[in-house]
Amino acid sequence: MVVQRFKTCPRCSNGCMITYLEEAGRIITIKGAACPKGEGFIYETVAPPDSLIDAVVYVKNGIVSTATVRTSKPVPGPMVDEFEKAMKKLELEAPLEFGKVAVENFMNSGIDIISRTTVKKYIQ
Ligand code: SF4
Repeated sequence: MVVQRFKTCPRCSNGCMITYLEEAGRIITIKGAACPKGEGFIYETVAPPDSLIDAVVYVKNGIVSTATVRTSKPVPGPMVDEFEKAMKKLELEAPLEFGKVAVENFMNSGIDIISRTTVKKYIQ
């Protein structure tokens, strides 16, 4: 079903009112944007681009308590929000090694989580 939607472009003070037709997440037409930034805004809103995601996560039993991680490949646009939220809640166990897989097949997506930090295990 084709749906007509409206959005105000936030990319500059002109605030163009953009009208677009969308069908099942696919944009059919865009009208009302005075420049290409407005069309880009609509495409990113309706069909966000695939992207690598970075996050800072907690590490248990390590000599430091946080580490940075990154997805092993770009996450499909519609899943980016869900991935970001889930990655923020991750808790990993030390040791971690830079460039190695920390979590395999995260959220059954076929995408791994790669450690961007080496964290040694804390030994008392
Ligand atoms: S479409 Fe272009 S001119 Fe219009 S508000 Fe967006 S950035 Fe500004």
